[in-house]
Amino acid sequence: MTVTNDAQRAHGDRFGQPGRLFRAPARVNLIGEHTDYTGGLVMPMAIGFHTVAVISPREDDRLMFYSENYKEETVVDPAALDSGRRGHWSDYPAGVAWSLRKEGLRFGGFNLTLSGDVPLGAGLSSSASVEVAVAMAIQSLSGSELSLEKMATLCRRAENEYVGAKSGIMDQFVVAGAVAHRAMMLDTRSLKFDLLPLPEDVRVVIANSMVKHAVATGEYGNRRDEVEAGQEVLRRELGRELLRDATLADLEACRQKMSPESFARCKHIITENARVLAAREALLKADMKRFGELMAEAHASFRDDFAASCEEVDQLVAIALRQPGCIGARITGGGFGGCTVNVVKTSAAEAFVASARREYAQATGIEADCFICEPEDGALALAKKGGAA
Ligand code: ADP
Ligand code: MG
Repeated sequence: MTVTNDAQRAHGDRFGQPGRLFRAPARVNLIGEHTDYTGGLVMPMAIGFHTVAVISPREDDRLMFYSENYKEETVVDPAALDSGRRGHWSDYPAGVAWSLRKEGLRFGGFNLTLSGDVPLGAGLSSSASVEVAVAMAIQSLSGSELSLEKMATLCRRAENEYVGAKSGIMDQFVVAGAVAHRAMMLDTRSLKFDLLPLPEDVRVVIANSMVKHAVATGEYGNRRDEVEAGQEVLRRELGRELLRDATLADLEACRQKMSPESFARCKHIITENARVLAAREALLKADMKRFGELMAEAHASFRDDFAASCEEVDQLVAIALRQPGCIGARITGGGFGGCTVNVVKTSAAEAFVASARREYAQATGIEADCFICEPEDGALALAKKGGAA
């Protein structure tokens, strides 16, 4: 595997010593969008793109980070960790060091090399992939063993509090804890999860629309504010602590007390949680037709109630659904562009990619990047199977 070799070689060339190697995958979310910051349900899986972290101890206490992707080295003085982010890629690994140290893990200086084939900023969570690979590496140096829950929580804290990016727990949890051939239904409140079989005769095709509308960052924040405002009304009026606890009847009862936007956003989340549960049932029965219908409903809800799709992505979904062997298609990720996730018969996957790309280019003039994926192991399973050399 080339990222692994690249990382080992880069580490040796730069630091003149071999290191221990850890791998963490990227992820895609099959269904359950914008539910993870209100204690809801999600169904992601790990995919076959990885970030590799190679680590070796130093004599002094400095933290050296080198990224083969950025071809850049940076040094962090451990005393400076508490002063926070610098607006640089090294915030991700430094944030993990900060979070693990805050948790009480003890480690000295180290050299750490990162190398990955995860497309950056494409919504496949290269950030969680980096965080978990780095956490695995640092924990090995400190001789501790974090549970899955701890590892995910500490990496999330790095991203939320150190890097300053709002995100739920889903990405870090699945990147660390996924298992090959399984999707993971995660309850983001209790952190209980189910590993669900995905039939061997289907593949998950990720198609990048290659657009990210400029409104995305601002609108993402607005959506969260609208959701939180609605949640607050349900809490105040009916004692529902999290949206997760509310029903559509509860929401209807509070309709006059919230903005029409908050009502619609909350409606998406309440119905989406129900769809994730239904999707779990569908996978347990190997009923992929039902799974596909739920994806279609999820896309419509994201587009109409959550109001966070865009024309290009809607076109990409419509094109996908016209292709032979396509079972379901919907937007995945934060919204306003980004990727779609498509469940496609394995035998039709190559042809699906060729014609979806052609038709999308005809419609929009844009070449979509497409990846044919299946559920892969997370970082902990990879380490157990000898993914760490
Ligand atoms: P996404 O998680 O969707 O890929 P983010 O913006 O959350 O997008 O995270 C991307 C950021 O993560 C990059 O801009 C970079 O700062 C950091 N990152 C990801 N992979 C690497 C890597 N291999 N080396 C250094 N930094 C990385
Ligand atoms: Mg990210």
